[in-house]
Amino acid sequence: MRQSKLAIKTQKENPKDADNISAALLIRGGFIDKVASGIYSYLPLGLKVLRKIENIIREEMNAIDGQEILMPALEPKENWEVTGRWNNFDALIKIKAFGDKEFTLGSTHEEIITPLAKKIISSYKDLPIYLYQIQTKFRNEARAKSGLLRGREFGMKDLYSFHTDEEDLDRYYSRAVSAYYKVFDRFGIGDETYLTYASGGAFSKYSHEFQTVCEAGEDTVFVCANCKVAVNKEIIEEQSICPKCGNKELIEKKSVEVGNIFKLGTKYSKPFDLIYLDEKGERKDVIMGCYGMGTGRNMGTIVELFHDENGIIWPESVSPFDIHLIVLGETDEVKNKAEEVYQQLLNKGFDVLFDDREESAGVKFADADLIGITKRVIVSGKTLAAGGVGYRLRAEKEEAIISMEELMSKL
Ligand code: ATP
Ligand code: MG
Repeated sequence: MRQSKLAIKTQKENPKDADNISAALLIRGGFIDKVASGIYSYLPLGLKVLRKIENIIREEMNAIDGQEILMPALEPKENWEVTGRWNNFDALIKIKAFGDKEFTLGSTHEEIITPLAKKIISSYKDLPIYLYQIQTKFRNEARAKSGLLRGREFGMKDLYSFHTDEEDLDRYYSRAVSAYYKVFDRFGIGDETYLTYASGGAFSKYSHEFQTVCEAGEDTVFVCANCKVAVNKEIIEEQSICPKCGNKELIEKKSVEVGNIFKLGTKYSKPFDLIYLDEKGERKDVIMGCYGMGTGRNMGTIVELFHDENGIIWPESVSPFDIHLIVLGETDEVKNKAEEVYQQLLNKGFDVLFDDREESAGVKFADADLIGITKRVIVSGKTLAAGGVGYRLRAEKEEAIISMEELMSKL
C-alpha cells in the first residue's frame, strides 16, 4: 500500500477529550474516528489491526473445537421476556421497528443462542457443542471511555458451550482458560494478564475474568506475585488470600477486563426448556458455559501496554503492516531504488506500507513512530551510498545499514 493513497490524516496534538493514552494515540494515528461518545469508525489502519486480533481469537477458538456462527444484532423482546431480563438489564438499548414490534440491539446473545441450540440438540449424542461468533455488541453504558476501552458499540467474541453434565463443562472450561492465555500471549499482553477470581457465577463459586494490569484500567485487582492469578475488588472481602497458593500479600493494581468466562449451568437452559435425552431416554437439562472477549478493548489494551512518547509500538502479531518502507530524498536514483525494494518485498509476500509521500524526513519519521509498524526499512542517499538499506525495529532506537540479502534473511 502506498502511503500517498492511504485514507488517513495523522494529528500532531492529542484530542482534547481523550481520557486515556490508547484513545489519544489511536485517534492521532488515524486508526479510529470518533462519531459520538463510545461510538467509533475504524479506518483502514485500525481495521487491519482489528482483523488480526479477530483472526488470532478465531484460530484459538477453532483450536478448542469452536464452530463459528453469526447471530443477528436485532433481538426480539419475546426472547428476553422468557429469561426475565427485558426489564432487568440496564444495558439494553430498546427499539421499536416494523410497526410496533419491540427489539433490543444485541448486548449479549444467550437469548438467541439458547433457542437456537434447542433446534440442534435433542440427544446426548448431540453434545457437547461449542458455538461462537465475533460480532458487534450494543450497550447502554452509563460512562463510555474515550477510545476503545469502553464503548457503547463494540466488538466481542462470545462463545457458548453446551454439555450433558458439570464434569464435561469443567473440562471444557479449563480448555477455554488455556485458549484465552494463548490469545493474550499472541497479543503480547500475556505477562500482564491475570486469571482473576470474581463472584457472580450463577452455578459455581467463582466466575473468572482475565484482567490486564495497566494504569488506564477502570477495575481494581489484587494480584498474587507467585501465581498468575488475582482476586477482583468485589470478592476481596471474602477471598482475601490467593485462591491458588494461599499467599496473604496480594498487591492492589489497576486493570482492564480483557475477557470473562462463566459457568452458566442451567440459568438459560431452564427458561428455554433446553433439554436432551440421556442414554436411558430420560430428559435432562443441558448445562451451559459462556466465554466473552472484547476485540476493540483488547486493541486499546495492547496500545496501553505498548507505546512510548512518540506513538504506538505494535507487537508483530497485530501490526497493521509487516513492514514500513520509507524513502528519503529527491533523486531519481533513490526513488528508483525504493520502488525496487518495494516490489521485492511485495514479491516475497510481505504486507508493506510504502511512505512514498513528498514529505520531509521529520514528518515521515514522526508519522512512522506514531503509527508504530513493528519493522521499518529505509531507503535514502546515505543507505544507497553504503550499498544497502536501513533497518530498524520500532521498539529500538538504532538503525543498521544492511544489504538486501541480510534484510531478506532478517525478515
Ligand atoms: P465490564 O465489567 O468491563 O463492564 P462485562 O463484565 O459486562 O464488562 P461481558 O458482558 O462479560 O463484560 O463481556 C465480555 C467481554 O467483552 C469483556 O470481558 C470485555 O473484554 C468486553 N466488553 C464488555 N463491555 C465492553 C465495552 N463496553 N466496550 C468494550 N468491550 C467491552
Ligand atoms: Mg465484568
